[in-house]
Amino acid sequence: ESGSGVRVPRVWRAEVERVLIPADGLARRVRALARQIQRDYEGRDLVMVALLNGTLVFLADLIRNLTLPLRLDFIGVSSYGGGTRPGRLTFTKELGLDVRGRDVLVVDDILDTGRTLRRVLERLERLGPRSLRVCVLLEKKARRQEPVRADYVGFEIPDVFVVGYGLDYAERYRHLPFVGVLRSDRPAGPEGTGATS
Ligand code: 5GP
Ligand code: MG
Ligand code: MG
Repeated sequence: ESGSGVRVPRVWRAEVERVLIPADGLARRVRALARQIQRDYEGRDLVMVALLNGTLVFLADLIRNLTLPLRLDFIGVSSYGGGTRPGRLTFTKELGLDVRGRDVLVVDDILDTGRTLRRVLERLERLGPRSLRVCVLLEKKARRQEPVRADYVGFEIPDVFVVGYGLDYAERYRHLPFVGVLRSDRPAGPEGTGATS
């Protein structure tokens, strides 16, 4: 299956099967996305609304490549019951800023079925923003179930469950500096999550 050809760093070899997007590839692409956003929102009143928690690393890198004035807010939404299977959607943090009449850019880690973003966009739309766009680091086209499209997409990836660069498996692996695929035979124990669930 697809990979970047980059070797899995030694410390992660017991748990990670392959690197899908290496750290330098992420950095380059995020800079390019930032340039696009910079161009499109110059002179506007940008409010970036990031979804917790998966956007943590992507967002930190993205905003540090932007020099236009912007405000930042977060919506907490959790769509997974802890593992790789979708659960139901719950909002864990509501928007704080008033976005009426503002140019809102929603940032998420990955656009998969589209259910999460669809719910979030419906909510935001009701708040009367001047414009509403979507930026995602990753997109799995094959799995789309809802008519949601992203205006800014970092990478299109195949239908595999990925972790790293903010994305988790049961709240683990968010701190990997690359996007990778877990080994199904990874060891259980304090460093791993176990191969079950
Ligand atoms: P959707 O609602 O589009 O099906 O799913 C979006 C959310 O599911 C993402 O924000 C992300 O939290 C989670 N998700 C979907 N695919 C993956 C994946 O491959 N890896 C991880 N870690 N999370 C995923
Ligand atoms: Mg998410
Ligand atoms: Mg998750």
